[in-house]
Amino acid sequence: MNDFLAIQQQLKSQKIQGRYITHNLIESIVMQFPNKLIGTSVENRPIHTIDLGSGPVNILIWSQMHGNESTATKALVDVLCYLQQNPAFLAAFTLKVIPMLNPDGAAAYTRVNANEMDLNRDAVEQSQPESKLLVDFYHAFKPDYCFNLHDQRTIFGVNDNPCMLSFLSPAADQSKKRTAAREKAMGVIGYMQNALQEHIPNQVGRYDDTFNPNCTGDFFMQQGTPTLLFEAGQVGQDYARVETRKWYGFSILKALECIALNLHMPNIYQEIPEVEKSFVDVIIKNLHYHKKTIDIALQYAEVLKNKKLHFVPIVHSMGELSNLNAHEIIDVSGKNLSFSHEITVDSNAVWLSELLNLTQYSH
Ligand SMILES: [Zn+2]
Repeated sequence: MNDFLAIQQQLKSQKIQGRYITHNLIESIVMQFPNKLIGTSVENRPIHTIDLGSGPVNILIWSQMHGNESTATKALVDVLCYLQQNPAFLAAFTLKVIPMLNPDGAAAYTRVNANEMDLNRDAVEQSQPESKLLVDFYHAFKPDYCFNLHDQRTIFGVNDNPCMLSFLSPAADQSKKRTAAREKAMGVIGYMQNALQEHIPNQVGRYDDTFNPNCTGDFFMQQGTPTLLFEAGQVGQDYARVETRKWYGFSILKALECIALNLHMPNIYQEIPEVEKSFVDVIIKNLHYHKKTIDIALQYAEVLKNKKLHFVPIVHSMGELSNLNAHEIIDVSGKNLSFSHEITVDSNAVWLSELLNLTQYSH
């Protein structure tokens, strides 16, 4: 399967680009696969599964349960197109894939669904049609593994590096003991980590495993099903997450390979460093302000306007910022910038990015 890296750019799924990914955008790809309508969202958008393979190991994969987390969906359609061309790889599996569990959130570019509920905190109550649909589908399908696909914010680092991918084998109870299901999920993540270190060393992290029964992964672990959390992260200026998408797809295929060949590496899981909230998007260094020299950290707010996504810089913090890392560092010590704006935490800093000719990102 290492040819995935060579051909990923040529897959037909590459026509899906950018961060704003709606159900309309993926529908034509979904329809190219055997699929089923399994329900609808609060605002009546369709929710589909794609069905591939008829092997003995059942795997349930869902993406975009948080509507604004689209990198996983793009990686997933790459994987599906790859598997369509390489059906032998599917011999071990019956895959059921929900490419977009929260199509309303995707349309509005929000984490939450149309009732402003976080579907990943609704596993026990199942108060929302989308979460109920997922849990009902889980019980009917009886998967041997679940893959729970997400994106993380730009704030995560691992040691002093940006975190491109992170994983979690969630706890199944408060004690966080290593149940058989946890052990299996750890083993698959260890196998992915082992493969990824050859390619993207020191950019893979492990999420905190504090138990929360309302989270879908923890809930399915509690039922005894190994459930892997995947998170796509931010590296440098790649706000479209093109590189992340590639390695995310590679990881999904490696996870399948691990399960098919029974090559679990749980001990490697333990060695993966935990993610830290250590990054901001931009740090402007040595800005003259009120007769002092200060550093200013900016964090982009992702704002949907006229169906286009805009990255709006907001002041995150200011002062002495040597403990923070940034995806972009701009030293303005040599520049004679003059401006009259007041700078305060949480204020909009579009004027500052314009002054510095900061790249404006929109997708
Ligand atoms: Zn998420």
